[in-house]
Amino acid sequence: MNKIATPKNTKEMVEKHGFHFSKSLGQNFLIDYNIIEKIIQGSNITKEINVIEVGPGIGSLTQGLSEAAKKVVAVEIDKKLIPMLADTLKGYENTKVINEDILKIDLHQLIAEEFDGGDIKVIGNLPYYITTPIIMRFLEEKVPIQSITIMIQKEVADRMNAKPGKKDYGALSVAVQYYCTTEIITIVPPSVFIPQPKVDSSVIKLNRLEEPKVKVASEKLFFGVVKDAFGKRRKTLLNALSSGDLQLNKDMVRETLKECSIDEKRRGETLSIEEFAAITNRFAEKI
Ligand code: SAM
Repeated sequence: MNKIATPKNTKEMVEKHGFHFSKSLGQNFLIDYNIIEKIIQGSNITKEINVIEVGPGIGSLTQGLSEAAKKVVAVEIDKKLIPMLADTLKGYENTKVINEDILKIDLHQLIAEEFDGGDIKVIGNLPYYITTPIIMRFLEEKVPIQSITIMIQKEVADRMNAKPGKKDYGALSVAVQYYCTTEIITIVPPSVFIPQPKVDSSVIKLNRLEEPKVKVASEKLFFGVVKDAFGKRRKTLLNALSSGDLQLNKDMVRETLKECSIDEKRRGETLSIEEFAAITNRFAEKI
């Protein structure tokens, strides 16, 4: 099959199958092969690499991935797209489409059944409405993958990539950077999609660390501390941590911050991941 990622071929395929785009499933299809090449090159996909693609749509990215990778398993929720994918992926022997919800499928089982060893990378032009749950599933469930390269709303990519003290830095930055290093590959305008989204997108690569960036006594407590610290942005760290969901005693928080040499008047958005870990580990000894 010819490359589907052109305006003409995409429109023809959509008409041929009488397909209606679903806004609620975040369906915006890529029609620019240059962007597809950037995603593939930026992810270092080679014939030794297995790929899990999230949401193949009509196969725009899948065709390129299939040519570059050892094997591609593409998980698509919309059953109306399955016959269209059969059309566009005809002859792409190393590619399998699974009609499932990426948030529900057993990812460890998928890997065991579909890949016979070798490194695995996750790629996707993600449905924007569930970007964070998808990424956090791969990271929190410790799925054995090397990296995740995704096209997402630029604003969300900026938050994932932000460093302490920057305006985009928040709980999402800490959550992603606890597990991964981050790298923006390119920024993408709305004009490379059918239909066009309202905002710019970014391609961001998350390189999974062998071990999380910091050692914490309890991940639950660590993410609880992070959530409380960012929960009330205008509050000092002392006030945010002693009036948050963890319901920590104010004197204990004051003492802990002092022990960690962290000024209690600082705001959560200035703290590094190492500082969040130091506070967490002290709290863990006391509560
Ligand atoms: N990869 C294609 C491309 O670049 O042209 C399509 C990208 S489109 C932004 C997102 C795709 O994800 C759609 O095909 C949509 O049906 C699919 N999708 C949405 N929610 C999903 C879910 N929970 N599990 C799997 N696929 C999903």
